[in-house]
Amino acid sequence: MSLPTPSSETAPAFPESPVSLAELRARAAELGLDVGAALAVPGEEGERYRRWVADGFAGAMDYMVRTLEVRADPRVLLPGARSVVVVAFPYGDGQRRDRPPPGSARIARYARSKEYHGVLLDRVRKLRRVFEDPLARAFVDTGPVLEKAWARRAGLGWVGKHTHLVSRSLGSWFHLGVIVTRREVEASEPHSDHCGRCTRCLDACPTGAIRPDRPFRLDARLCISYLTIELRGPIPEADRPLLGEWVFGCDLCVEACPWNRFAVAARDHRLAAEAVAPGWTPEALLDLDTGAFEATFRGTPVKRAGRAGLLRNAAVVLGNRRDPSAVPRLARVLREEPDALVRGHAAWALGRIGGDGARSALRAAAAQEADPEARREVLGALGAGGLSSP
Ligand code: SF4
Ligand code: SF4
Repeated sequence: MSLPTPSSETAPAFPESPVSLAELRARAAELGLDVGAALAVPGEEGERYRRWVADGFAGAMDYMVRTLEVRADPRVLLPGARSVVVVAFPYGDGQRRDRPPPGSARIARYARSKEYHGVLLDRVRKLRRVFEDPLARAFVDTGPVLEKAWARRAGLGWVGKHTHLVSRSLGSWFHLGVIVTRREVEASEPHSDHCGRCTRCLDACPTGAIRPDRPFRLDARLCISYLTIELRGPIPEADRPLLGEWVFGCDLCVEACPWNRFAVAARDHRLAAEAVAPGWTPEALLDLDTGAFEATFRGTPVKRAGRAGLLRNAAVVLGNRRDPSAVPRLARVLREEPDALVRGHAAWALGRIGGDGARSALRAAAAQEADPEARREVLGALGAGGLSSP
């Protein structure tokens, strides 16, 4: 197979000699990274990605659609690219499953540490120096590259039926970083697949985002991670009960994977620390004003959901619990919360919980709610579960 050549004669020079895997691994090990490399030629993954987007599985994640062509071929991203180098960096405590304190809302494991982009990107950029390619691009999570597909080709693991990467030595609790370079790098052996007949992750998914009859394909529109983080605006009513206890992300399919008995703990304390306290209850989240939200979640992935998104999710979790003790808190939200999205979801939660207190809070809201969407939620909640009856 012939390697692509730089498209511009004016592009800055870089050494022509290949980088060996041994040299790459030695430098990566100094930085605490597992590493592998692949030739920067498009594979079948690009076509699979096109089909996934065409089927609408990306939902409202427009950036995934806009970057389709770049994602399918790293040479569009960097003309003359010859190699894609991928690193893996563990996070969390290395346990297969989380054990959240009673009453707390669930937050995905990766989001309970400091912002990982900066922590990992710093190491990836240091590793990039090995290539002496001034145009080499480094990404952590936000780049238009199919990280998991490249990680498989670079020998770091395989893409499991839940669509996450799985490693025999790391499990799945790790972040990926990618470097695209014009330098030739000795390629690793692609990883073989070790899912076999197992379907535990597919069976564990409560929403049907991944299903036994459709392994290796994620319908992001149904995934709790998408619903709680990426989706702006109201969560479709039919999906709300499926959120269960999750206020940010979801780890159920990853926790189900038996390969996570080989998971390892974070190698950087910033990714091991529970910067976001594990004991956040949904009630306490509903009390966060803008300043408190910023102060609490600045520098953590949770900030991505935004205050309104996180409080919306907290209200849904309380509705799912159907615990009458949450009624006074939700009634206060209905009266005082400035964001109509949160008020609307608090109304839904009150409708689910029911009882006299919920009914009188909803009636008061029906008399004063001016936002059309929140009002629709209030009236819908009054009609739910017999709440409209005297
Ligand atoms: S993250 Fe949760 S909702 Fe999404 S596919 Fe996995 S188990 Fe299903
Ligand atoms: S749970 Fe089973 S099917 Fe799913 S990724 Fe792990 S090994 Fe593969």
